[in-house]
Amino acid sequence: MMSLREIRYRLRHDFQLAVLSSMALVALSIITPFTIYRLLKADWMMTIVDSVLILAIIATVLYAWYTGNARRSCQALMYFDFVLGIVGVHLFGTAILGWVYPMLVSNFFLASPRHAALTGILFLLMLLIIEHQIFPSPLAGFTFMATGLLVCFYTYVFAQRAELQYRQLEDLASRDTLTGAFNRRTFQQELQRAYQAFQRDGTPYGLLVLDIDHFKQINDTWGHDAGDEILVRLAQLIEGSVRKTDRFFRFGGEEFVLLVFPTNLQALGTMASDTCLQVEREIIYEGKPLTVSIGGAVLCPQEAPSAWFARADAALYSAKHQGRNRAIIDCSYESILPIDVSASV
Ligand code: GH3
Ligand code: MG
Ligand code: MG
Repeated sequence: MMSLREIRYRLRHDFQLAVLSSMALVALSIITPFTIYRLLKADWMMTIVDSVLILAIIATVLYAWYTGNARRSCQALMYFDFVLGIVGVHLFGTAILGWVYPMLVSNFFLASPRHAALTGILFLLMLLIIEHQIFPSPLAGFTFMATGLLVCFYTYVFAQRAELQYRQLEDLASRDTLTGAFNRRTFQQELQRAYQAFQRDGTPYGLLVLDIDHFKQINDTWGHDAGDEILVRLAQLIEGSVRKTDRFFRFGGEEFVLLVFPTNLQALGTMASDTCLQVEREIIYEGKPLTVSIGGAVLCPQEAPSAWFARADAALYSAKHQGRNRAIIDCSYESILPIDVSASV
C-alpha cells in the first residue's frame, strides 16, 4: 500500500502521471453521477456502457501507478478520447462539438507534440468524413474544421516550444557549463541508478575517477584560461572516445568520472590504461604532454554507492602516490592486490 507521502512525491515528479490522474478524476466525476441516474431509471444499456467506461479509466490509471509507465496509459487514454469523441458526436450531434476543442488541447498533455497533432488532425478528418451530416451547412463544417486545425497548430507550436525550453533547462541543470560534461548532481543520480540496476539484475558497472596531473602548475605557468582550455580539450577527447552506454561527468575542479557499463575488472583496467595513453598522446600544451591519473572500481554485491566511489577514489590516490600518469583498479573485493595497469602506460 502506497503512503500519502509517496503518492504526493510521484505526482510532483511525474508530470504525465499527474495529468493522467487529474483527467481521470474529472472524467469519473462527470460520468459517475450519470451512471447512478441511469441505474436508478433502470436504463440498463447505458448503465453498462458507463460502467465499462469507468472501469476502463480506472484500469488505465491503475496500470500507470502500478507499473510506473504513465506514457503508455496516456497514449491509451488519448485513443480512448478519440473514439469517445466520435461516438459522442454521432449520438449527440453538434451539442457535443464544443468538447472537441479541450480534447484536442488535452492530447498534448498525454503524448508527444507530433503524436498529439497527428491524432488531432486524424480525428478532425474522421469527423468530417463520417459525421459530415451533423453540420447545418458546408460553411459550418468548414469553419469547425478550420478552427479545430488552428487549435492543433497553435497548441503544437506551444508544446514544441515548451519541450525545447524544458530540454534547455534540463541541460543547464545537469551539465557543467565549461566542459559540457554531466555535472556532479547528475553523477549522484546516475550512481544511484546504477546501484539500483545492479541490485535488480546484476548489471555490471564500473567507475573510473580521473584527475589531471600537476594541473595547478599549468594554471600557474600559463594562466587560468589555458587551464580552462585544457579542461575543455580533455572533456572533448574522453567524451568522443567512450561508448554510448558510458557516462562522463565533471566531478569538480580537474577531476572527472566515467561510469562504465557493461564492464568487468579486466575491461575496466584496459579502458583506464588506454585513456591514460590517449591523453598523453593527444593533448599537448606548449610542447608538453598532459597526463592524468586514474582510479577504478567495479561495483560489488552488498556495496553502497558511496563505498564504491570511495574505493575508486582510493585507487586514484594510490596512482598519484605511485608516480602519476597511471591507472589503478581496486580489487579489494576479490581479495587480491589492486591491478596496476600502469605497466602498459
Ligand atoms: P595532482 O597531480 O596531485 O592532482 O596535482 P594538481 O596540481 O593537479 O592538484 P591540485 O588539487 O593541487 O590542483 C588542482 C587545481 O585545479 C587547483 C585549481 O586552481 C584548479 N582548478 C579547479 N577548477 C578549475 C577550473 O575550472 N579552471 C581552471 N583553470 N583551474 C581549475
Ligand atoms: Mg590534479
Ligand atoms: Mg584534484
